[in-house]
Amino acid sequence: MADLKRGKLYVVTGPSGVGKGTILEKFFNNNKNIYFSVSMTTRCPRPNEKEGVNYFFVSNEEFDRAVKNDELLEWTEYSGNFYGTSKKFVENALLKGVDVLLEIETQGAKKVMEKFPDCITIFFAPPSFEELESRLRGRHTEDENAIQKRLSAVRDELSMAEKFKYNIVNDEVESAYTKLQAVYDFESGGK
Ligand code: 5GP
Repeated sequence: MADLKRGKLYVVTGPSGVGKGTILEKFFNNNKNIYFSVSMTTRCPRPNEKEGVNYFFVSNEEFDRAVKNDELLEWTEYSGNFYGTSKKFVENALLKGVDVLLEIETQGAKKVMEKFPDCITIFFAPPSFEELESRLRGRHTEDENAIQKRLSAVRDELSMAEKFKYNIVNDEVESAYTKLQAVYDFESGGK
């Protein structure tokens, strides 16, 4: 049997509010050969979010069980909630030769880089910290306490940008998307 080529793992990160969601939505609409890894989280769904599409929304107990059963490739606590990546989903896809994209925060990305040194890492940066703060506030999905926690996480995350292979500044969705597409086309050899 011919060796099946393993899929490639893409790790996308960037501070909360940087606009990763919008860019990735466009990316997945235009690229059907790469899977999005749907994470598990203990955070409550936002009004427009769907179970199994954006996240698997679980209780703290369910999350703990997944950790204990070693079902997560990586997991982290981020601004008071837990988030984790399904090991089985990622490994099965890669084994089948399918590319997978993880959209996770920087601590999780660091763990994935250790486990998968060949993964392709992409960091989305805001044009400035002030711009990001105003986007986070404009979203009206978090209260002031949650926003403060997120802003503090953002400072830590921005300091990690240089550890990523590609840095894309999201000054405008269309141009950031075009850059992401160029990275993918290059890394996947235009497949
Ligand atoms: P949000 O609550 O805004 O959807 O996500 C908060 C942060 O958690 C974002 O930076 C997002 O990329 C990250 N995140 C989402 N899923 C995971 C995951 O499975 N693992 C880790 N480490 N971070 C995640």
